[in-house]
Amino acid sequence: MARILVTGAAGFLGSHLVDRLLGLGHEVLGLDNLYTGSRDNLREALTHPRFHFQLGDVRHAIPASVDAVFNLACPASPVHYQADPHLTLTTSALGALRLAELVETRPTVRIVHASTSEVYGDPEVHPQPESYWGKVNPIGPRACYDEGKRVAETILVDAHRRRPFPLQILRLFNTYGPRMALEDGRVVSNFLVSALRGEPLTVYGAGEQTRSFCYVDDTVGAFVATLGLPPGPAHFDGPINVGNPEEIPVRNLVDVIAKELGTPLEVTHRPLPVDDPRQRRPDITRARARLGFSPSISLAEGIRRTLSDFRRRVS
Ligand code: UDP
Repeated sequence: MARILVTGAAGFLGSHLVDRLLGLGHEVLGLDNLYTGSRDNLREALTHPRFHFQLGDVRHAIPASVDAVFNLACPASPVHYQADPHLTLTTSALGALRLAELVETRPTVRIVHASTSEVYGDPEVHPQPESYWGKVNPIGPRACYDEGKRVAETILVDAHRRRPFPLQILRLFNTYGPRMALEDGRVVSNFLVSALRGEPLTVYGAGEQTRSFCYVDDTVGAFVATLGLPPGPAHFDGPINVGNPEEIPVRNLVDVIAKELGTPLEVTHRPLPVDDPRQRRPDITRARARLGFSPSISLAEGIRRTLSDFRRRVS
């Protein structure tokens, strides 16, 4: 059993990771400032004897007496992360600095950092391998998230170069599933809420832009797999893409949801947001080799599971 800190524990992804780690017998410390997370996501965990919740902010302090840190703290949906760009950028950057300080004195602590496909920006290489440096607009509305996540990678890899510690950087591609905030503005949550309310689904642009959606249980599996890697300040062998390579145009997501609901859905179009990436699909060769990662939940199955959660929450 390890003592593991999850930052962003009350968020969508963080809370699923907490539940999985508790199920595996670990002691889990959850840190969250509840900016986008909610205690409701931790409903079950909060009653668990091996779970401890701490209201706090990664920008200021990180509990140090742990064996591993899963760093998930940061607003992650475009609507949320653009609402307060300063908070978004500083959460990524200062959070990484706090982690770098922690491993300076405790180099045996494993750091598993949640990065993002957004480091590739609007990619010119498709699908995206980890070796691609990306095409990010540094002054656009998405920059607070993209550049924050990029600099967090820089800070952690520099710290590792200075003094090695066990480090994994996972670049996540569009995770979805139960517990996504209903109003977080992401395409899966927006579409499901609109469909269940009988309102038209809002497709931005023509909906030809593609995404590769990964069900949350698969993403969580990749995080957990890092605990099976050899301990010690091993050589850092680069970031790892984590996602499901099943790529679809956004407009086709409407059909997937319509099929699950067994009813045709009305669509309305809105302007494409600035700097919206036109295509995105992970090359997961490294994740397969390093983590034994193999996403197993199809988009249809994942949407079915997510729908049953949204049905309970959408009135
Ligand atoms: N999108 C859409 N309708 C919505 C919300 C999003 O068509 O109601 C599009 C958005 O423009 C993007 C894709 O769906 O091309 C995924 O958006 P999301 O905010 O979920 O995540 P992103 O991958 O852009 O961070």
